Amino acid sequence: MTVLRTSSLTRSFGSVRALDGVDLEIADGAVLAVLGPSGCGKTTLLRVIAGFLSGDAGEVSLGDRVVLSDGRARVSTKHRNIGYVPQEGALFPHLDVAANITFGLSRRERRAGDVADLLALLELDPSLASRYPHELSGGQQQRVAVARALARKPSLLLLDEPFSSLDASLRESTGRAVMRAVQARGAAALLVTHDQNEALSLADSVGVMQAGKVVQVGPPIEVYAHPATPFVASFVGAGTVLSATVADRVAHTPIGDFDVAEDVGSGPAQVFARPEQVRIVEDSKVVATVRGFDFHGHDATVHLGVDGHPEVLCRVGGDELPTIGDEVRILTHGRVTVYPA
Ligand code: ATP
Repeated sequence: MTVLRTSSLTRSFGSVRALDGVDLEIADGAVLAVLGPSGCGKTTLLRVIAGFLSGDAGEVSLGDRVVLSDGRARVSTKHRNIGYVPQEGALFPHLDVAANITFGLSRRERRAGDVADLLALLELDPSLASRYPHELSGGQQQRVAVARALARKPSLLLLDEPFSSLDASLRESTGRAVMRAVQARGAAALLVTHDQNEALSLADSVGVMQAGKVVQVGPPIEVYAHPATPFVASFVGAGTVLSATVADRVAHTPIGDFDVAEDVGSGPAQVFARPEQVRIVEDSKVVATVRGFDFHGHDATVHLGVDGHPEVLCRVGGDELPTIGDEVRILTHGRVTVYPA
């Protein structure tokens, strides 16, 4: 069963096409992350789905109900059974956590123990129920905001960059706890983010937006391994665009050869090599100069200069850092996606 379907959804602000024919689907209980650069239309998409904004054309269905058609809202926000969690500041400052979670629920909808259950589900201590928002950390506030949205038993939760104000480690743990809670409650989620790690690690599928359009949607592994365009490739993870000549399903590039994912014929092309597809080895014909590296602890991305070619990225273990300025030898391997030259 499909929880959400948008078809040909379009919305402009003056001459800006914030949404340009968006087709998306989310299955029951699934998490879709919509990833894209600033201004590509992510928030507009959530606002139209939630009913805060109308569209210009297209359709939105929630389950078997059409809630927007020909761009016009047919069902109000209140009756869409959707939860919405914004970036931050969603909690009422004058209400404690328990009152925030149950705010607006009718007596019939309130169940004894629901606040405690929701706090437990979001891995929050039960003693937080009587605290006020200013007495919580940023991560705790966001978990309470999600608890409040889930208290209404929505079929779909819309999350608008809910972890962006948190630091990296807190973002990961909060994101995982929130996704576990969403799934335990049987809800589906649409998570908007510009953080590729968050999208790849938390979602069942990832949709990449560029200038109001969804340019690719698929499981995280597929989008990472077979990006539809060079834009998707460079937005979803690091790598190097290389000019290539393809023949017999091998892409020959100035830094070495790669297998080609599909039969794309022969001739000049572009390929995108991930840093893990370039290795520093003892023996190879291709020589590169180490220009610098980004140290990530467990591993590092090394920036290499190769004669006559833009910067090439290569991944090494955190304990295998080369020295800046050194000459190294590199070997390519694995399968790449080919794009027109
Ligand atoms: P960010 O990641 O920076 O939040 P986004 O992908 O969520 O960006 P949107 O906020 O959806 O992008 O905006 C998409 C485009 O529509 C942008 O060019 C933005 O300036 C424009 N836009 C959004 N809302 C309005 C508005 N109310 N009036 C005019 N233009 C708007």
